[in-house]
Amino acid sequence: MAHQKVEIIINFLPFLSKEKILPFLEKRNEKLADQTLEEMLEGLVNYKLIPILLKKAHVKNTQKWQDCSLKEKENLSNSLGHFSIHITDTKDFSSAQCSRGGIPLDEINMHTMESLKTKDLYVIGELLDVDGDCGGYNLGFAWLSGIRCGKSL
Ligand SMILES: Cc1cc2nc3c(=O)[nH]c(=O)nc-3n(C[C@H](O)[C@H](O)[C@H](O)COP(=O)(O)OP(=O)(O)OC[C@H]3O[C@@H](n4cnc5c(N)ncnc54)[C@H](O)[C@@H]3O)c2cc1C
Repeated sequence: MAHQKVEIIINFLPFLSKEKILPFLEKRNEKLADQTLEEMLEGLVNYKLIPILLKKAHVKNTQKWQDCSLKEKENLSNSLGHFSIHITDTKDFSSAQCSRGGIPLDEINMHTMESLKTKDLYVIGELLDVDGDCGGYNLGFAWLSGIRCGKSL
């Protein structure tokens, strides 16, 4: 990854292809006439994203869709459907939420969490070679393996 150029493109409206976003906003504006761009985007994307998307599109939050130039409309549609982020680096280990690697699962009795190699040694949680996506999987695994271990003890 070092010195590589890495770009992430995000479509914040994945139910629409890039080309269909402008017509979609046009239609949405008909139903929500007289609203500011900020208000028009409410409920469509997370509210924390709205100022970022508007800034990227070089439009003001108080501006109205019908007052935008075609270029501004295209910019906003682009920032919603084709938001580009250049990855410059990753954070270091002190910011990590879980670590990879650990004791292989085939060395553990998964019903009791006891090591198959060393009697009376129990291994749970992150010490095992298990890692999940963020969203509760790692804590869940730590708790469940802990419960199994506790019960067997
Ligand atoms: C900032 C952050 C955010 C996270 N967010 C999430 C999340 O949202 N969802 C999710 O699922 N997971 C999340 N995780 C990961 C999750 O917290 C861990 O996977 C989980 O806590 C691992 O549990 P564990 O019991 O194996 O280890 P730990 O929780 O690390 O517990 C190990 C314990 O052992 C103690 N210890 C270490 N050495 C010794 C020693 N020599 N003697 C005695 N005690 C010792 C430590 O002090 C620690 O209390 C996050 C982690 C971090 C750092």
